[in-house]
This record gives sequence, structure tokens and C-alpha cells, in this order.
Amino acid sequence: MNKAKAILLVADGLGDRPIKSLGDKTPLEAANKPNLDKLAKEGECGLMDPIAPGVRAGSDTSHLAILGYDPYKYYTGRGPFEAAGIGMDVKKGDVAFRCNFSTVDENMVVLDRRAGRITSGTDQLAAAVNGLDLDGIKAIFKESVAHRGALILRGPNLSAEITDTDPHHEGEKVLTCEPLDPNNESAVRTAKAVNEFVRRSYEILKDHPVNKERIAQGLKPANIILPRGAGLGPSIEPFESEYGLKAACVAETGLINGVARYVGMDITEVPGATGGPDSNVLNMGKAVIERLATHDFVLCNVKGADVGGHDDSPQVKLEMIAKLDEMVGYIMSHLPENTYVVLTADHSTPCAVKDHSGDPVPIVFWGEGVRVDKCEHYDERSVTAGGLGRIRGIDVMKILTQLMGVQEKFGA
Ligand code: ZN
Ligand code: ZN
Repeated sequence: MNKAKAILLVADGLGDRPIKSLGDKTPLEAANKPNLDKLAKEGECGLMDPIAPGVRAGSDTSHLAILGYDPYKYYTGRGPFEAAGIGMDVKKGDVAFRCNFSTVDENMVVLDRRAGRITSGTDQLAAAVNGLDLDGIKAIFKESVAHRGALILRGPNLSAEITDTDPHHEGEKVLTCEPLDPNNESAVRTAKAVNEFVRRSYEILKDHPVNKERIAQGLKPANIILPRGAGLGPSIEPFESEYGLKAACVAETGLINGVARYVGMDITEVPGATGGPDSNVLNMGKAVIERLATHDFVLCNVKGADVGGHDDSPQVKLEMIAKLDEMVGYIMSHLPENTYVVLTADHSTPCAVKDHSGDPVPIVFWGEGVRVDKCEHYDERSVTAGGLGRIRGIDVMKILTQLMGVQEKFGA
């Protein structure tokens, strides 16, 4: 038989709680989803706590855990994942930040944290500050979508134990970046570089032609860059050397692509994959099957259900479940032989909470040799009848790699 392959499907924020308007059912329980149910019926089901019981997981920490990387060890802040997600090469020892282009007045008071939600010209603004030398520390900056960007500081002995510069409120002054511990020399040096970067960004951007043009048009200038969410580039074992599986990622958001890039997965451009409820989810399924021709493992994250949860829209969740069902149907009818399929969520995003909760999510393992159980429906309560019981995100790759026959034995 050919070497086993695997698909790990993660429906972002899919889990929910009973909703009155759905007759006290969760969206998964209320939805018509023949393909998801077929997977459950033919597979081994259970509940999964992405991090640990009751822990409210972020998408990034959860994906790290599901891929077998303990987030308490490897998650050093959001910055490195944002930077990796827009294609920046975050190296060990770098300190990376998420940034906003903002508008300040001459007294450094923030007038608009998002620079009037600027949509064009940030590539030119980014080029103007990229590569600055901050007393021996190199600043690498790249724009992302809209007012966002990411900053990498590269140099010897840097530390992410520093505070943010973004005051998070308009009408307040830009904050001075401070070391969390004044005796930590690396943090003192890094904080100094951040403050210097912010100061220089204002010097350079305030008179930049893009901003002169914006002011002439009555728009707010993107005249400063405010870094936040500092994180140290960790030394992380690439996925391929960890498991011996060449891996690709099919995802819609920079955050998930960032996690995937971080562990060395190949990223995939999918036409029509928007990250919103309007996304072409079927195209993502097609991309998954295409990737399987050249890769052993494909991680796929479909974002829309999470958006429905954040917006308190059971209707959007139901529509996303229908799209997900169509995608799973496509994948299952185009599956190469000896391929395993895992379907789960990275966390619950209950409509009533409008944010991520600590409720566990359903999970199913499907493929050759799984102990098929009595569970017939893929939803939060039905899977409790499944054979997996309740597992954690960090267990998923262990269970999968032993099914695939690619795991080393522990002991004699
Ligand atoms: Zn998520
Ligand atoms: Zn979310």
C-alpha cells in the first residue's frame, strides 16, 4: 500500500451552545449535513479540548496544539505569527510585532489608530521605513491588509519582555515602550529600538508623498507606525522533520497561514477564499485534493463559522455548515487511497458569547483501521457517544500518526 496521507480539516469556531431560536439545538445539531454525519458514522468520534478543559483558545494557540506543538512552550506572542502570515521570514532570536499605521498630531496624540482605515499606498510607506538601522538592530517592516503591518527587529540579544506603544484609545498619547523588568538588559535595548523605530517612522512618514496626497484629499495621513504584541521568534522543529510528513496548508487568514508557515508548511493561494461567509469553500476543498498529490499532510482551516459566532448569527453558522458539508462531500469523493481524514474545530465560538469559549469541540478520525463507534451525527452532543472520549488538541497528531503507521514506538 502507498504511504498513508492525511487531511486535517479545522472549521474555525464551529462549536456552539444550545440556541433558543434553533429549538435549543446548536447550529451543528440543527443543520442538515449529510456528509459530516457520514464521516461521523464511518469514523471514531469524540470531544476535543483544544488546549485543556475550559481554556478559551485563540486560533493560533489552538492550531499549534492540534499540530502537536505545546502552545505554552511555543506561543510567544501574536507578532511572530502575524509576520509569518504575510510572508515575512521570522528567524530564531528575532522579535516580531503586529503594527498599525496610525494618525498622530505633532504632540504624538493618536487621532486615528487606523489612519482613516487606509487602503492604498501602505506598500510605499512600508518601503520608506523598511531596513532602518536602529543602533545595530535592523528593522524589517512589511505592510499587511488595510492599516496593518508587521515589524521584525533583528539583532543580538533581543527580548520580547516589553510593553506596547499603541495606547489602544484615540485621544491618548503614543506610549513609550518599556522593559517589563528594568534590570533585563536585552529588554531595555529592545524597548529603546522600538521607541526609536516609532520616532523615525513619524519623521519619515509625516512628509511622505503618499501622506501629502492623503491630506490634500482630506484623508487622515498614515504618519506613524505603532508596534504591539511583541513575540520572540522561537526555535520550533519543522513539521516535516517532526513527523516525516511533507505538509501544506489551505487557509484563508494570515493568522493560520502564519502558524503553518512557522512550522514549515507550504501555503496555498485559493481563488475566492475570502475568510468571510461569502468564501468559496468548495474551491478550498479542491485545493486540498490538489495539494494531496504532492504532499503527505494537508491542514485546511475554513474561517466562516467563527465569523458567524462573533457576529451572533446562527444563520451564518448554518450557512457555513452547509458549505462545509459540500466541501467534505467533494473531498470524500476525490480522496486518494489510504488517506486519513480528521474533522474538528479549533475552538467554540458560541453565538451567545460572541467570542471564543472554553467549550470542547467535536472531532472525528476517519480512515483505515479506526475503531468505528456508534456515533452517527457530527455535533457537540452526539459525539459524546463516540470511542475517543475526550481528548486534547495536543493528542491529535499522536492519534493520527499512529493510525498512519508513521510513529516511532516509545520503548521496546
Ligand atoms: Zn479560530
Ligand atoms: Zn474567532
